[in-house]
Amino acid sequence: MFKLSVPQPNMLDRNHLDYILAAMKRPETSRVEMRKISELVRTRMNPHPAGQKEENVPQLDGKPVSGLQHKYRETVLFFPSEGQYCHAYCTYCFRWAQFTSVGSEQVFKSSNRDVLLRYVQQHPMVSDVLVTGGDPMVMPASTLRHYLEPLFGPGSPPHLDTIRIGTKSLAWWPYRFVHDPDAADILRLFSEITASGKHLTIQAHFSHPREVEHPVTQEAIRLIRMTGAQIRSQAPLIKHVNDQPKTWASMWKLQSRLGVIPYYMFVERDTGARDFFSVPLTRALDIFSSAYSQLPGTARTVRGPSMSASPGKVCVLGETTINDRRYFVLKFLQSRNPEWSQKVFLAEFDPNASWFDDLKPAFGAKEFFFNEQYQQQKLNVDGGSSGQLCDVDWLAGKGVTSDSGQVDLSM
Ligand SMILES: *Cc1c(COP(=O)(O)O)cnc(C)c1O
Ligand code: SF4
Repeated sequence: MFKLSVPQPNMLDRNHLDYILAAMKRPETSRVEMRKISELVRTRMNPHPAGQKEENVPQLDGKPVSGLQHKYRETVLFFPSEGQYCHAYCTYCFRWAQFTSVGSEQVFKSSNRDVLLRYVQQHPMVSDVLVTGGDPMVMPASTLRHYLEPLFGPGSPPHLDTIRIGTKSLAWWPYRFVHDPDAADILRLFSEITASGKHLTIQAHFSHPREVEHPVTQEAIRLIRMTGAQIRSQAPLIKHVNDQPKTWASMWKLQSRLGVIPYYMFVERDTGARDFFSVPLTRALDIFSSAYSQLPGTARTVRGPSMSASPGKVCVLGETTINDRRYFVLKFLQSRNPEWSQKVFLAEFDPNASWFDDLKPAFGAKEFFFNEQYQQQKLNVDGGSSGQLCDVDWLAGKGVTSDSGQVDLSM
């Protein structure tokens, strides 16, 4: 818990740390300079991983929409302005740029619920809206209601099935649902959503069983489930925090008992203090498999270890040996082109690989099977002024009714 929440000097790369320490030791360094120096170091820490700044920003009426990301056909992410803060500020947060001056010109956020509604209306393939941040549960119930009402109230898009809220509040501020002055309003809002016939799922970030053990957390889980909402749990695998199989096995078991559905184990992304936190893929796979094998079928809903890379969420399914050579077996759990998710593919085994970019295609192939299409889509995006990089068919054909600006992407 301490390393999850309190920055440590050795989270910085040696050169960056020396640079910062030297500046701190110079008596003439002003606060303004110190700030500039730390900003410089931050810009070197890959603040916007997986091309999310350039590649996921959708368009409406030919203009990029801020505060939305649309990478996978079925699911639109919405970043409400008031939710771009967090209960936790995890040291490994992959959205850390949202909270710092590095991200300030490019923070994903929107306070426009009408744009969100219009975007969903114009994309019949979108079944899920995921409200995210930061942590949307830092917002008052009335603000959350303001954003969500058009999505489930009268006249809401009929093709929208599920509203999701990503939050760490169950772990870090469970009082949000139990004692806060508007706790009852939150629960009422949840009940109204499920009564409307839409599904509500809380994507709860739990990194460690300690976070699930607290009685107030368990009470909050009970209250949320009584509204008809489901709670699904996800977290990254983090060295020094949760890199033991027994940690995950006991967390998933306890969650199952409480009615929380284990959903994703992520590989720590290539951003921020990743050298401090990263776990080699082969070790991640061992941890996942060992924990998973201890679970009953009801808890084997969890998938991972999964890497949120530029082309999609890549799951390491396992390792295999062919003619005495070892390979990783991979599969997309989500991909920019939905067809890519239908195929299993192999990469050369590498004991030190800890991210998708470290992997090489098997059997001496120059590139992975999807790469040509992916590069082609990128070219179309650059040539066609749209910031969005998804499969062309669903975007230009099935996905769009009246939004002609999108058709730029068709080949
Ligand atoms: C993970 C993710 C989603 C949600 O994926 P599911 O598999 O549907 O939970 C949506 N958009 C982006 C950009 C994501 O990284
Ligand atoms: S809970 Fe999520 S958004 Fe908040 S600091 Fe942690 S990783 Fe970042």
